[in-house]
Amino acid sequence: MTTPGSFDDALSSVPRRVAPATGRLRWYFGPMDCGKSTLALQIDHNHARQGRHGLVLVRHDRSGSPQISSRIGITRHATELEELTDVRQLVRERWAAGLRVDYLIVDEAQFLSAPQVEQLAELADDAQLDVYCFGIATDFRSMLFPGAQRLFELADELHPVQVEVLCWCGLPGRFNARVQDDRILREGDTVLVADTDAAEVRYQVLCRKHFRTGELDPSPVHRGQLSLT
Ligand SMILES: [Zn+2]
Repeated sequence: MTTPGSFDDALSSVPRRVAPATGRLRWYFGPMDCGKSTLALQIDHNHARQGRHGLVLVRHDRSGSPQISSRIGITRHATELEELTDVRQLVRERWAAGLRVDYLIVDEAQFLSAPQVEQLAELADDAQLDVYCFGIATDFRSMLFPGAQRLFELADELHPVQVEVLCWCGLPGRFNARVQDDRILREGDTVLVADTDAAEVRYQVLCRKHFRTGELDPSPVHRGQLSLT
């Protein structure tokens, strides 16, 4: 019979190697409106207060001037990542300009390409950067975004963010339904471009059951939805 104590004793006789310094790749995911961007800005603030230097990145910012904006009204300028941006190159350019980079914050990380997530992992391993990614796990069909999938595969830490986003029935909201004319859309492009016929399309956070059945809250305006106009 092995007790926890004897297991520790057995392990203690194994020569241990000092773990090399490394950064960590962290993936914070949740439905829209769950407070991810607020958390991203809080983490950035905490690091900056310690004298650390960060690079704040965002993918598919809709505002035109890239920024992380939280629903509680705080914003911070960010660097927009394009589809083919090599994140390692961005960091090297900072270094070449004599700037320090201690950590990265990436908002809307579900829109990253798989190679971009791999670049983030490389920066954590080889440049000891702490990488904080924030985003939505699944699209309007309840399928993983490609960037989210690669983050689930590679991240050192997975952090579900569940801050008071509820389905209209009161259960935790887990899926972002794409809604038009009070019906859930099940097909279409993963990324809906805001200026193409999207005026009538909105998103609504639902629990799994109501995402599955397509039952929407009878009242038209609810705090778990975001109008895409
Ligand atoms: Zn529900």
